[in-house]
Amino acid sequence: MDLKLKGQAALVTGSTGGIGHALADALAAEGVNVVLNGLGDPAAIEAARAKMAKDHGVTVLYHGADMTKPSEIADMVAYAVKEFGRLDILINNAGIQHVAPIEDFPLDQWDRIIAINLSSAFHGMRAAIPTMKAQKRGRIVNIASAHALIASPFKSAYVAAKHGIAGLTKTGALELATFGVTVNAICPGYVKTAIVEKQIADQAKVRGMPEDQVMKDVILAAQPSKRFVTVEELSGLLLYLVSDAGASTNGAMMTAEGGWTAQ
Ligand code: NAD
Repeated sequence: MDLKLKGQAALVTGSTGGIGHALADALAAEGVNVVLNGLGDPAAIEAARAKMAKDHGVTVLYHGADMTKPSEIADMVAYAVKEFGRLDILINNAGIQHVAPIEDFPLDQWDRIIAINLSSAFHGMRAAIPTMKAQKRGRIVNIASAHALIASPFKSAYVAAKHGIAGLTKTGALELATFGVTVNAICPGYVKTAIVEKQIADQAKVRGMPEDQVMKDVILAAQPSKRFVTVEELSGLLLYLVSDAGASTNGAMMTAEGGWTAQ
């Protein structure tokens, strides 16, 4: 099925690894030119950038904006618009996690999680919206979480930030509904990426449990499907949202969590 995305331009934050990289690759496979972003070893990032471009015959660029820095985020959006002459798809995906009880939660971790998981999406949207409005078409997809809809203990900053993303998504959807621009969130359950590997270790420490027990009794206990969500499943949702078929889906919290939030 031709999704008619060829030649469009996308910016995906936090796309040097994990979910963001998979989503960027899925867009590139549909002929979309992409700006990658994220932290990591410069040589590894360059190799991944070049591979994506070669695999799919599209232009793939990289911008190293730090998601805690509003001016760098604005600069990255301006870079995408300057290089591609347009910006059709913005995916706010960068995110981090820290697990601790509220009373022990390190203040710097609270600030960092709110900045990266919530405020960076606001700064990206703020910078991208004028271009999308002028184009009379745009797709903003915020990678939220099942934790945008429900809570878990010891994840106060993450759950607060992701609930904030839900509010930001709905507000953007209302503001842009008559401009051909949609704003939606994808709410994954557990996907086995670096962020989850680290949580397994952190939860083991907080709960005083072995890691395999955390995986079985804590992580997948919450997910009725009893398996991790795959990046292919998230890519499928994303492609729907950014295609013409998704034009009337706006302000939605699209879950892909194996039934977690149905409980
Ligand atoms: P990951 O750790 O594999 O990747 C995170 C990406 O964000 C990396 O590219 C990293 O370099 C980038 N990043 C982190 N700090 C940054 C900063 N200051 N500036 C720029 N980039 C930065 O994590 P992931 O699992 O792929 O998570 C991606 C998103 O999906 C996050 O928003 C996360 O909350 C969300 N999510 C993940 C899961 C899961 O189970 N993995 C579930 C629900 C939601």
